[in-house]
Amino acid sequence: MRIGQYSTDGVDPWVGVLHDDHVVNVAEAGTEAGVDIPQTTTDLLDTWRWREKVDLAVEYAAATGTGRYEPADLDRHAPVTGPEKVVCVGLNYRDHAEEGDNPIPESPVLFSKFPTCVAGPEDSISWDPDLTGKVDYEAELVAVIGREARRVDRDEAIDYVAGFLVGNDVSARDLQHGDGQWVRGKSLDGFAPIGPELVTTDEVSDPHDLGIYAEVNGERLQDSSTSNLIFGIDELVSFCSQAFTLTPGDLLFTGTPPGVGVYRDPPVLLADGDEVTIGVEELGELTNDCAYL
Ligand code: ZN
Repeated sequence: MRIGQYSTDGVDPWVGVLHDDHVVNVAEAGTEAGVDIPQTTTDLLDTWRWREKVDLAVEYAAATGTGRYEPADLDRHAPVTGPEKVVCVGLNYRDHAEEGDNPIPESPVLFSKFPTCVAGPEDSISWDPDLTGKVDYEAELVAVIGREARRVDRDEAIDYVAGFLVGNDVSARDLQHGDGQWVRGKSLDGFAPIGPELVTTDEVSDPHDLGIYAEVNGERLQDSSTSNLIFGIDELVSFCSQAFTLTPGDLLFTGTPPGVGVYRDPPVLLADGDEVTIGVEELGELTNDCAYL
């Protein structure tokens, strides 16, 4: 199942499921079909037996046309909005660690972005050039939590993941490295674009064997595979859940492969008018343009 959030007015997003080249507003179709389905992905994932309800709504929409939309007529928003937490992992690609001659970490290095960073596929990455002059991209596979996870074992951790999406861990390197800790440089408004849809785990063949890349203005600058992840999704979910409870809709950014702009020679830093595309095999592509405030 591919789940996004859409609107017809650019303002009030609702959950839409892709079906037969159309987007089904599952709350709208569900109401007609007699099942109660929430308006947002975060609430949907927290709903008992949500998949069966969504299947029913999609079936009803296919039969009656209720809640069925042409994708071209819709505004696309982030597939998940209002997560309780955005958890990120630093230095989690073997090839990235080797490239920088860094030792392979023995346990995951976590940091976070504020939930207000979350942006969608049609949003610009924007910043004040007087605040930061070193804005960078990071291609990432993002896991979306589907069930409350507290102290879960690694061998059952994947059951707590609803699915995956493509993310860009946009980073203001001067703030990140100048502040002594990372929260400001990682948490500018809109610095976590995600999309294009949330792809449920059953539709992803192997999250630890997907091509991942970043392109700036069409030039490929990161090109790797999630097979290079040092800590896999199951390890990360289990590790996080020993310390804090993960809740439905929480986003787990799993780290970035080599090739980010700041470490290139010469460095590639984002500027007004640039276009950044992040892609993950089987999940799709996320493209955002850059604009100064
Ligand atoms: Zn990152």
